[in-house]
Amino acid sequence: MSVLGRSTDGHSRLRARSYHRTVLTADTIRRAPKALLHDHLDGGLRPATIVDLAAEFGYRGLPTTDVDDLAVWFRRGADRKSLELYLETFVHTVGVLQEREAIVRVAAECTEDLAADGVVYAEVRYAPELSTEKGLTLDEVIEANLEGFRLGADRAAAAGRAITMKVLVTAMRQAARSVEVAEAAIRWRDAGVVGFDIAGPEAGYRPTRHLEAFDRIRHENFHITIHAGESFGLPSIWEALQFCGAERLGHGVRIVDDIAVAPDGTVSLGRLAAFVRDRRVPLEMCPTSNVHSGAAAAVAEHPIDLLRRLRFRVTLNTDNRLMSNVSLSSEFAALDEAFGIGLGEMEWLTINAMKSAFAPFDERLALINEVVKPGYAHLRGEAARAVVASGPAGA
Ligand SMILES: [Zn+2]
Repeated sequence: MSVLGRSTDGHSRLRARSYHRTVLTADTIRRAPKALLHDHLDGGLRPATIVDLAAEFGYRGLPTTDVDDLAVWFRRGADRKSLELYLETFVHTVGVLQEREAIVRVAAECTEDLAADGVVYAEVRYAPELSTEKGLTLDEVIEANLEGFRLGADRAAAAGRAITMKVLVTAMRQAARSVEVAEAAIRWRDAGVVGFDIAGPEAGYRPTRHLEAFDRIRHENFHITIHAGESFGLPSIWEALQFCGAERLGHGVRIVDDIAVAPDGTVSLGRLAAFVRDRRVPLEMCPTSNVHSGAAAAVAEHPIDLLRRLRFRVTLNTDNRLMSNVSLSSEFAALDEAFGIGLGEMEWLTINAMKSAFAPFDERLALINEVVKPGYAHLRGEAARAVVASGPAGA
């Protein structure tokens, strides 16, 4: 099929939007209401907290106890162009997440950090099986996670920043506990858990290994997102959607392998890519993380640009704020720098995320109508006034 018109239109709109780039400052991006669907609890610890927790709970494995050196170590460790190597750094964040108090603290700080970054809705995921080394049960880990989010949201609200926090419960794809983990996720669904995911090395661990867990979730009318199409290609995405019942794709970036762009700009979608676009399957895209794990060469070359121009249901996410040294605001800034997205596209990406969230419909609608849309309208008003004030020369 040809979508040449759409593609050309996308290019011309991109050029027009570069006009807005002077007003999309770091402050505007931070103040804009944002929604986050793909962020790992064990990928977002504050370096200082890791050092504190290691001392408090006797974790001796850290490569350094200097906070600045540790932050640099995580970043260097992550930027090695391989998903498997990227995942190695998590040994230390998981190492300090073996006690209830540690999980509560990290979850509360995660909430405060996201709220300070202008995030108004977040689904943060964690694999409870990773915190059971010292005897915590899956339920105890999930309870601690939820308690931390509640505490953090209270503190953020007291500071004037309302945020809604939800938990996604993850099972590790290379392990064999997914059914147990899925059942635990279902037990906590009315307390703030909104869905189930599998994560970890993708090559060699296809989603259908965990079919029984996905069946449990679906039979309970619960929600599924699956890390698929990050480091591994189309078969993983196909299985996630057509066998496991994924409603969203974690990354899903390799869907571009099913899209051909001819030299004249004509775009053809294969059956799977067409299905993903037609059914509005949300893509939880994390450009900087993909650059670090080697799935993309640079943000400016990331398929997110093609996919958003083709109007796939694209959402923008952080993945691992510590390892990739990003925030949702810095991801938006990177996208604006690379593609000149402007406020209009930022709002579109945010509404895409809110539409794709696993929170109940009325909760999502309230956030869209009462927080997201008024927030962007306000920022557009500010931008228009700034243009008028600076006059034609400044424009
Ligand atoms: Zn992820």
